Amino acid sequence: MNTDLPLIKFNPKLPELSKNEEAVLKLLIEAGELMAPLYREQEKQAKLISKEEIEEAAKSDSSILSPYTAVRKIDGKLVATPYHVIYAELLKPIAEKLNKAGDLTENKEFGRFLRLQVKALLDGSYDDAVIAGLQMKPYILDISIGPVEHFDDQLFYSKAAYQCWVGVVDEEGTKKLNNYKKIILSARKGGLILGERIENYENVQAKVDNVILFSGLMAKTKFVGVNLPMNLKLVEEYGSEVTIFNQANDSRVQEQILPTFDKIFSPIFKEEFTTEDLRRGSLRYVALHELAHNYLYYKNAPKNLKDLLHCIYELTATLLGMRIAGSLLLQDVITSKQLESMIIAFICRSFDLIEKNKNNKFMVNYATGGAIFINFMIESGALKQKDGMALPNFMKIFVSLNELSYILERLLSLGTREDAEAFIKKYGQVNKFA
Ligand SMILES: [Zn+2]
Repeated sequence: MNTDLPLIKFNPKLPELSKNEEAVLKLLIEAGELMAPLYREQEKQAKLISKEEIEEAAKSDSSILSPYTAVRKIDGKLVATPYHVIYAELLKPIAEKLNKAGDLTENKEFGRFLRLQVKALLDGSYDDAVIAGLQMKPYILDISIGPVEHFDDQLFYSKAAYQCWVGVVDEEGTKKLNNYKKIILSARKGGLILGERIENYENVQAKVDNVILFSGLMAKTKFVGVNLPMNLKLVEEYGSEVTIFNQANDSRVQEQILPTFDKIFSPIFKEEFTTEDLRRGSLRYVALHELAHNYLYYKNAPKNLKDLLHCIYELTATLLGMRIAGSLLLQDVITSKQLESMIIAFICRSFDLIEKNKNNKFMVNYATGGAIFINFMIESGALKQKDGMALPNFMKIFVSLNELSYILERLLSLGTREDAEAFIKKYGQVNKFA
């Protein structure tokens, strides 16, 4: 197999599965692997046309902006074709695997879900599959497959990219996450900020996966957590689901957080935090980030902030997640050491993203968010530099991030694109860091 494909295999320790579950899981993994070449194809297509061309052509043909169409140039004119038509050949073997899994599984509901998933891939009825997934009782096997994430980057614009994850639910982790969820939901009803929001607090599901496979876009973004669906109309009606991936967090810690931690902090400071502290800190801040998204569905934000929405929205979710961690601290659900580990993990992640952004703009929205956070902390005196080492003052960071969080939430609820642009210009300069 081409090792260059967007495909990551993890090797988690799995709970004991029945023979039937094992056989079904094998088929799901095979289906997921086939998503990688399909995404590669999609990526090639998208590169040929500029965002401006798409915007111009959309004035006369709105299907060009659909998340689920591929846009090609035919005789100098842009033509939109549904994904399921253009990629029919590559989708066929994926559908076969999923159908087999659907026939084989002893869980009727999961079988129905897989069949709807197949139908969606083949005829574009994605919403039906999403709704079935949200309404399904929790099951130990987990798969998400199809064009899902509208990752806001220069290649895809508003296009959904093919991706897949396959995992087995981590029941203990899921229980812990749902315990957080209950506390948060009762703590955060009714925010301080004006602006119309979608009320989605009661209708959030959350699970932790031991993940086996990421393919397609997921293998590039390597997200540790997701909050889906993207479509706010579906969220409003059917709720949303947060999924956290243990093994994606483990590799993020090994590949990004630990090397940065090693580089930017002094030996004495480093003694305070073990690898395990940072692993949990990273997992916790991502989990709370994903849950926090559900409080930030400001209805006018996409229209007001346009292309700058994503960057502001993502950082706001992280900061709100940290503030929620503050409430968990007050209730003795987490310790101050655990809260500090979350902050350290996010500082390391931010520096790493800023560094990587120099060569690859793929995660620019997250890198910009990281830069805003770091610059804001430096300006407020919460993060200092001494002998080339970063010196964080946790109490000051916590006070300062509350302020930043408030500013960002105001931008989301009432700000204009100009406001966001000015703010990013002031704090989000990614190139300032040596
Ligand atoms: Zn997010």
